[in-house]
Amino acid sequence: MHPEYEAVIGLEVHAQLKTRTKAFCSCSAEFGAPPNTQTCPVCLGHPGALPVLNRQVVEFTLRLGIATHCHIRSRSLFARKNYFYPDLPKGYQITQYEEPLCTDGWIEIELDDGRRKRIGIARIQMEEDAGKSIHDVEVETLVDLNRCGVPLVEIVSAPELSTPREAYLYLRQIRQLVRYLGICDGNMEEGSLRCDANVSIRRRGAQELGTRTEIKNLNSFRNLERALEYEIQRQIAIVESGGVVQHETLLWDAVRQETRPMRTKEHAHDYRYFPEPDLVPVVVSSEWLERVRAELPELPLERKDRLMRQYGLPAYDAGVIAEEREVADFFEACCAALRKPSPERYKLVSNWVMTEILRLIAEGAASPEALPIAPAHLAELVELYADEVISSRVAKEVFAEVLRSGRSPAEIVSERGLQQVSDEAWLRELVAQVLRDNPEAVERYRSGRTNVLGFLVGQVLQRSQGKANPKLVTQLLQQQLLPQEGPTVR
Ligand code: ADP
Ligand code: MG
Ligand code: ZN
Repeated sequence: MHPEYEAVIGLEVHAQLKTRTKAFCSCSAEFGAPPNTQTCPVCLGHPGALPVLNRQVVEFTLRLGIATHCHIRSRSLFARKNYFYPDLPKGYQITQYEEPLCTDGWIEIELDDGRRKRIGIARIQMEEDAGKSIHDVEVETLVDLNRCGVPLVEIVSAPELSTPREAYLYLRQIRQLVRYLGICDGNMEEGSLRCDANVSIRRRGAQELGTRTEIKNLNSFRNLERALEYEIQRQIAIVESGGVVQHETLLWDAVRQETRPMRTKEHAHDYRYFPEPDLVPVVVSSEWLERVRAELPELPLERKDRLMRQYGLPAYDAGVIAEEREVADFFEACCAALRKPSPERYKLVSNWVMTEILRLIAEGAASPEALPIAPAHLAELVELYADEVISSRVAKEVFAEVLRSGRSPAEIVSERGLQQVSDEAWLRELVAQVLRDNPEAVERYRSGRTNVLGFLVGQVLQRSQGKANPKLVTQLLQQQLLPQEGPTVR
């Protein structure tokens, strides 16, 4: 970035709440049904149809508000935000305007260097989604109203993010949080998490805020970062050439990789907000609030810190494992199942989770909620390895077998005779065979290129069908490779 300028960024994030039914009617809120099959007079806005607030919407929003340290209003209001759009049959959106449920909170984000930064949350409000227009070149525009009335929260940050990277990390943190809280699946592709970015620039160190633009249509983390980078440069170029940044709404064009004006920013009064006459104020009792507070799970960064403290995990491991609540639960369940728990064994469990388990999830072969191996089985496998009963190669094989059969690792190992062999006489014999069959490698080793040792160890392990204890094999090889009759003279 230009050294004389700094950016100021604030995000408005819309998270679709994972309720079974819509915000104000009993239509299903599920994603992916055939178009226009999940509607009723309420969400289509037929005259006389009356909305009734879904309690779960308030409950979910409370979870988020408490988790972000917001002030929670005991009495909050709904308003109508009026505008015309083909995917909005009612002609208005029910939202919160003057008295939203949650205000003045904060969330901590973790920067790349590990420092934490507190970002203010200006407000979190409940609202309903609009339908979806599908623009098709051939049949023109179609409208799907299934999404009308699906509950959202809008999370408005304070203008306290300073770089596109920080904006990215903030959005990730929000996504992780709503997933931990079980209130939103965070799926950006399906639109359950959407983000508009507000950005302005100012002279470095200046106090007052510059004029901002608002970028819409940021449907991926990558687009958010790219769009902000582009927009910051664009604004700097305008100011540098003596121009003035216009307050406007822009669209991110991911194909051309540029922002484009969408329409001039509506001012609040254009929307003609007014109180929603069909809904009573939302009243949150202190008992309700306290119950939700008591039921809140441990939050992502707290959990990361605890994994480091309690299990001695490196920051990297703790971050990867705490990314998903269910994965962290699985990790802890494995640790709890260890017969001889120790930091070394916790780290081994962590390695398994970060590689094999996360790979299964990434490949779509498993989901965090339904992992195909019992924690006790992974713990057992780790201990078979840690106790040097099996080699790491055999451990991988046994893992695959546990996945296939669901049987216990100890059972598989003893039934298939996979125990590592530390019988010296037998190993000595294998080592001797390998040395005999690989005179060139032996020669190379003796002339100082000792990295062929790995190859020789591999040969012995292969002959033992993976059952030889690699540590012992290495020792035996080194012994036998030592020139018996003094240094070789060449
Ligand atoms: P509006 O009511 O027009 O939507 P808000 O005050 O609610 O405006 O702010 C919307 C978002 O824009 C917030 O996330 C806020 O942090 C951010 N924002 C406000 N002013 C600026 C600015 N000058 N530069 C960057 N972001 C800003
Ligand atoms: Mg706003
Ligand atoms: Zn409905």
